[in-house]
Amino acid sequence: MTVLNLKEIFEKEEVFENRYVIKPEDLSFPADLGEIREPVEVFLRITKDKNGYRVFMNILGNVELECSRCLELFDKDISQEKEKHLEYYPKEDHLSLSPEDLEVSFMEEPDILNLEDLVREEIILSVPMKPLCSPHCTGVHHPALVLEEESKPVDPRFAILKDLLTK
Ligand SMILES: [Zn+2]
Repeated sequence: MTVLNLKEIFEKEEVFENRYVIKPEDLSFPADLGEIREPVEVFLRITKDKNGYRVFMNILGNVELECSRCLELFDKDISQEKEKHLEYYPKEDHLSLSPEDLEVSFMEEPDILNLEDLVREEIILSVPMKPLCSPHCTGVHHPALVLEEESKPVDPRFAILKDLLTK
């Protein structure tokens, strides 16, 4: 896990920049969504402002998904650039003053950034509800297999049953 203590970092720096390579096992991506087989690269740039932190991420990687039509596995490029605003959980009588153009995430713990959590969230958001290996996928990639199934001899148990029923 990569945990950044932003409070400590910004005591000494104005801007924090770093590059990370996250191993698939550290990302613990939900298996029912897909599988990450290769390390994911992340370039991170953070600046502090009044209400929290501005986080810019450049994510490079792939996730293996199952096509919802033909059930073949395929790699989807999830590389993306993302900028968001990390904020403290709002107090009840306090309205959020976040910049309107940025997506907001709340910090589980004040001034702590968990890189894997943040990156996992962005990758999950970029996985489509119904993944398709190609927009033109016809759903049948194995006509030979389908034919084989159809030409299978009828199960003898069903043949007996049919015999009994027609008597
Ligand atoms: Zn397909």
